[in-house]
Order: sequence, then structure tokens, then C-alpha cells
Amino acid sequence: MLIRMNVSRKTISELLSSYDRKKLKIATICSHTALQIFHGAREEGIKTIGICTEERRKVYEAFPLGCPDEFIIVDDPGKIPAEELAEKNAILVPHGSLVEYAGEKLGSLKEPMLGNRESLQWEKDREKMFKWLSASGIQVPATIDPDKIDRPCVVKLAGAKGGRGYRVVNSPEEFYEHFEGMNVTVQEYLIGVRAYPHYFYSPLTKDGYRASEGRVELIGIDRRFESNIDEAYRTEMAGLSFTPSFTVVGNELLVMRESLLGDILGMGKSVVETADKLFGGIPGPFCIETVVDENLQFFAFEISARIVAGTNIYPQGSPYTAYQWEEPMSMGRRIAREIKLAAKAGKLNKIIY
Ligand code: AMP
Repeated sequence: MLIRMNVSRKTISELLSSYDRKKLKIATICSHTALQIFHGAREEGIKTIGICTEERRKVYEAFPLGCPDEFIIVDDPGKIPAEELAEKNAILVPHGSLVEYAGEKLGSLKEPMLGNRESLQWEKDREKMFKWLSASGIQVPATIDPDKIDRPCVVKLAGAKGGRGYRVVNSPEEFYEHFEGMNVTVQEYLIGVRAYPHYFYSPLTKDGYRASEGRVELIGIDRRFESNIDEAYRTEMAGLSFTPSFTVVGNELLVMRESLLGDILGMGKSVVETADKLFGGIPGPFCIETVVDENLQFFAFEISARIVAGTNIYPQGSPYTAYQWEEPMSMGRRIAREIKLAAKAGKLNKIIY
């Protein structure tokens, strides 16, 4: 899926200037990280709108503190009611499901959306994403020609979500047996510990860990549980043979060696500063998916240019936000806080374009 950007920064800026800055709302699709986004907005005193199918509504009503103040009921969550949202002074917060459901339509959506929507194009296109990572000076796994597979490789389906359908292959023969004629990427299999640091880049704040014109914050780190590879030892101990698969099922909190924090913050800073040069910046949340090897070297295989589901682990703040904020700070709340700060300073254009 290619997201073509048809809405100019000027159009979004004009829309924003018609907003009542004292009555801003936060909207998102009821899925992925919505409970956290609504909960965080509530803690910052911002009203919320959930775009939701009738059937999903009861799930959100089961969690009163993560429930939006109002619902817009839709048949198809991929059809974002842009006009209605704009009339309600709403800022859309993109998350994984929103990007997946709305897809290409995001490029022409006349509705202010947190962040730089150009960045979604750079995360979707694997070639662009690797250009972004490499230009940031971050090590990446080698991309291998199927005919030259000479080591364990992970084969990734184009546009696959959450690792579904991925497979490890060891030879060209094994590759062609499963993926002949398919649109896939073959990547060297990285051996080590997976670590997914969650960052927030604020162009509005100048203290802390400086990056570009503001600062980058480490909000948390997670590791995923993927089926069936993450329970492989049980399967093996039960004497069963299996083919490793990578479908994401859940997330767990990770706290890393303190001596690695410098590297982690450094990667965040370079990704921010490279985004500035390549496509005009990345305000707001993002995540770098990495594997750390036995020599404590980081290798990155993906960037998510938006809030990731791993942040759902800490709605009351993480082991890293505890040292940055007096109050419990989730990623959802950090987003709401930034919108509030930008509105107050008349700088919404710096975080929404
Ligand atoms: P992705 O769709 O790129 O987020 O990948 C889904 C999952 O596949 C990751 O969370 C990893 O567990 C695994 N994975 C992806 N790329 C690699 C790689 N190059 N080496 C080892 N595991 C990988």
C-alpha cells in the first residue's frame, strides 16, 4: 500500500486556524491504543471522540476511564468522518489500526492529524524505511536476494501486519517452495534480544535530551510475544516439531541495562534529525524495532512513525517516565499534553501537518 499525500500542509494549517483552540478534542478509531489515548486525554482534561462500529462500542463502555466522551458510529472504521471531526474541533491521533484501515485515504484526508503524515509513507515503504534507518547511522539486517540465500533469513510478506505469514528459510530451494512468485522481502535473521523503544519527539521543549529543534523522550520499551516462536521451548520440550511463526499476540515490559540508554536515546535523536532532512520531521510518538546482539550492538528492522501497541503496558507511566514526570505519564497522556502545550503556545502547526 502506498500512501500518496494529496493534502498540502497549507490546507491542514488553514483548517487548524479555523479551530477553537480552547475546545480541542482528540479523536481516534476504537482499536489498537484507543483506550490509552482516551484515558490520557481525560487526564489532561481534553474531550474525546471514538470512531466505532456499533458492535465495538460495548467493549469501550466496559472501561469507563478509557471510554471516549462521544462515539461516532460507522459501518466501516476505514471511512474516517473527516468533515464531522473538523466541525467538532477534533485532532485525529493515528495508531496502527487507523493506518491499516484508512490506508491510502489518509493521504487525502482533510482533517488535522497528529504528526507529519508524510512519515506514514516512509514507514509503509520498506525501501524508504531502510533508507531512513541507514541515513540515521543505525545498523540494519542485510536484504538478501532469494537466489543467494546462504544463512537463516526471515521472509516478510508485503504489507503484512504483525508478522503474520512470515517464515524463516535457509536456502533458495526452501524460499521457492513457499514463496514462488510472491511479493516479499528476504532479510537476514537477526539473533539476539528484541527491544522496541518507544519515543516521543517534541519540537516544543528545549530541555532534556536535545534533538533537532526540541527534545526526544524515551517513554518506554517493550518486547513482543509472538506465536509460536516465543513459546518454542515448551513446544520442543513436549517433543513436538513446529515451524516458527511471528504473529504478534501481546507485549511485555522491558527494562534495559542502564548502560544502553545512551545508545537508545542516540538512535531516537538520529531518526528524528534524519526525518527532518528526508521528509520534514516526525513530531509525536514513534518506535524503532531492534534486536540487540551478544556484543550489545543494536540492529533495527523497522520504524513505526506513530504510537505502537507496546505502550499499552503502562497506562500509569513506565519505569522511564517515572524519572521525567512527577505525574503518571502514559504515551496517550503525553500526546494530549503536547496538543495542549502547542495549542496554548499557538504552535499546533509544529506538531500537526
Ligand atoms: P515486523 O513486521 O517487521 O515488525 O516483524 C514482526 C516480527 O518478526 C518481529 O517482531 C520479530 O520478532 C520478527 N522479525 C522481523 N524481522 C526480523 C529479522 N530481521 N530478524 C529476526 N526476527 C525478525
